[in-house]
Amino acid sequence: MKELVIISGKGGTGKTTLVASFASLSSNTITCDCDVDAANLFLILAPEVEKEEEFSGQKIAFIDENKCTECNICEEYCRFDAIDNSRIKEIKCEGCGVCEFVCPTGAISLKDVVTGRIITANTKYGPFFYGHLYPGAGTSGRMVTEIRKKASALSRKNDSDLILIDGSPGIGCPVIASITGADLALIVTEPTLSGEHDLERVIKLTRHFNVRTFVCINKFDINPEITERIERRCKNEDIIIAGKIPYDRVVTKAIIEAKPVVDFVDNEVTDEIKKIWDILLREGSLL
Ligand code: SF4
Ligand code: SF4
Repeated sequence: MKELVIISGKGGTGKTTLVASFASLSSNTITCDCDVDAANLFLILAPEVEKEEEFSGQKIAFIDENKCTECNICEEYCRFDAIDNSRIKEIKCEGCGVCEFVCPTGAISLKDVVTGRIITANTKYGPFFYGHLYPGAGTSGRMVTEIRKKASALSRKNDSDLILIDGSPGIGCPVIASITGADLALIVTEPTLSGEHDLERVIKLTRHFNVRTFVCINKFDINPEITERIERRCKNEDIIIAGKIPYDRVVTKAIIEAKPVVDFVDNEVTDEIKKIWDILLREGSLL
């Protein structure tokens, strides 16, 4: 079983649109939406939910009022300003455990809190895992790891060929959790100044974690000059450009119809997406 992760340096480059099409083009594949801060692949894959589980990715401190002497030592040591007059401010607590350690009366304990849900589902394209983090919850990396564990366990059971991962944009914790140990990363970028800049950052990240990297330039024709720069940069770094997708409003229409674009239309956009998929399978050694 191989793992392909699709990421982008910034949001809105078309990453999820591509993942939905890859899910449609593949067979014997498990798909995961690991963009847990803003999961939206389910809107296109139309899953039938099999199971929903609470996810506890974080601990926060609780004070037992019966044991508390209101000495305020815990407030003095808390570096997150999460204690005020022997009361925990839950939204600020990072669960570091320092207050539990310094409390002279054993009044403080750390407890698990539910920070989201993980959903196991079926789609017409195969099994699908995704998550919803609750607003303000800061445990996205852990949730991504948990989703990948579930997908790996099912792939071993089903003898699946591939796990397809829709990663988060950026270079933060959920992205690192998405790419670590993956066989191949496809970075989706667009020819804008921010797209170019963020591509450089995310290439550094995949290099750091030693993940083989391909690039796809979406809407490549909106700025030929930047597209050329991106191509030159990738060539200098021995990164394969898997494909260049032209701008076409039909992609937006497919999203509005909640369909993978390859299921919606047959044109030069979908020809290019199919070509990219072939390149990933063959040159990315995913077969
Ligand atoms: S250190 Fe313990 S006893 Fe002192 S205020 Fe905090 S919880 Fe209460
Ligand atoms: S667990 Fe850490 S962040 Fe939370 S209240 Fe205690 S010291 Fe502060």
